[in-house]
Amino acid sequence: NKPLSGKIAFVTGGSRSIGAAIVRRLASEGASVAFTYVSAQNKAEELVREIQEAGGTALAVRADSANVDAVKGAVAETISVLGAIDIVVNNAGIANVKPYDEVTIEEFDQMAAINFRAVFVAIQAAGPQMKEGGRIINIGSINASWNPIPGNSLYAANKAAVAGLTRGLARDLAPKGVTVNNIQPGPVDTDMNPADGPYASLAKGMISLGRYGKASEIASMVAYLASPEASFITGATINVDGGVVI
Ligand code: NDP
Repeated sequence: NKPLSGKIAFVTGGSRSIGAAIVRRLASEGASVAFTYVSAQNKAEELVREIQEAGGTALAVRADSANVDAVKGAVAETISVLGAIDIVVNNAGIANVKPYDEVTIEEFDQMAAINFRAVFVAIQAAGPQMKEGGRIINIGSINASWNPIPGNSLYAANKAAVAGLTRGLARDLAPKGVTVNNIQPGPVDTDMNPADGPYASLAKGMISLGRYGKASEIASMVAYLASPEASFITGATINVDGGVVI
C-alpha cells in the first residue's frame, strides 16, 4: 500500500515546473490528483497520460487562478469527478520583475489575484469539506524573507501575505484536524527561474549549497507534509532553499 493511497489531491498550476513535480510525486505516492493549468494544455494532457500509463489517476482542469469563479469551479469539478479533497496544494504563481514606478495597477491586481487571493479562494472552497488528517500546503517563496533584487516588491509582498494567511488559516482549520503549512522555495530551476537565467549568478553566490534546487526537491517536502508523518506540523513556514536564509 502506498502512503497516499485513497487520498484525493488538488494542485494549482500543475502543468509545468514545480507544480508538475508535485503532481507526479503525489500520484507516485498513490493519490488521485487533479491539477489546474491556464495555457499549457498539451503539457497538462501529457502529464495526465503519463500518470495514467503508470496506473495512477489524474485530472487536468483549465482554471485561471486570477478568476475566482474558475478556482471555485476547479475545486467543485475535482470533488464531483474524484471525490472529497484530502490535500490542497496552492502552487500556481507568477513573477513579474519590473521597476516599482512602472508597475500598473492592473499588474498589481493580477499578481495579487494569482499569488495571494487564489490561495484563499481555493482553501475557502475546499476547506469545509476536508476531513480529519487533511492537508493544505501553500507554495510561498523565500522572497517573503529575503529579497536580493530590485523590482520584486509585489512578488515578495504577496508571498509574505501567503505566509501570514498560512498562520491564520492554520488556527481556523485546526479544530477539524486539517493542517495548513507554507513551503518557501529558494531558487529552483524552472521556466520561471532558469538556472542559466538573468538572476542565476547572483542567486548561486547566495545559496549555501552553491546550486539551484530541483522541482523534485520541493515536491519531496510537499510529500512529507502531505503524509501522516507530518501530523503535528501546522501554521509553519518551511524554507527549502539550499541555505539562502540561515
Ligand atoms: P513556472 O512559471 O515555471 O510554472 C508555473 C505553473 O503555474 C504552470 O503550471 C502554470 O500553468 C501555472 N500558472 C501560472 N499562472 C497561472 C494561473 N493564472 N492560473 C493557473 N495556473 C497558473 O513557475 P515555478 O514552477 O517556478 O513556480 C511555482 C511556484 O513556486 C510559484 O508559486 C512560484 O512563485 C513559487 N516559487 C518558485 C521559485 C523558483 O525559483 N522557481 C522560487 C520560490 C517560489 P501554464 O503551464 O498553463 O502556464
